[in-house]
Amino acid sequence: MSFTCQNQSCRTRWEEADVTIKDEGQGLLFRCPVCNSRNPVVPQRRPDGTIRYQQRTR
Ligand SMILES: [Zn+2]
Repeated sequence: MSFTCQNQSCRTRWEEADVTIKDEGQGLLFRCPVCNSRNPVVPQRRPDGTIRYQQRTR
């Protein structure tokens, strides 16, 4: 699972370990380390109990 920055002029790909996922008040997101764009994510609980984050696309 990897993320792609949704900023059209950036589009940098990130692994989940490369970014910090946090809630700034409008749901979970990470900020692209390159362009600082907000990228919303959705937490998904896996059968083994771990949480993975899926990028929310519009
Ligand atoms: Zn970016």
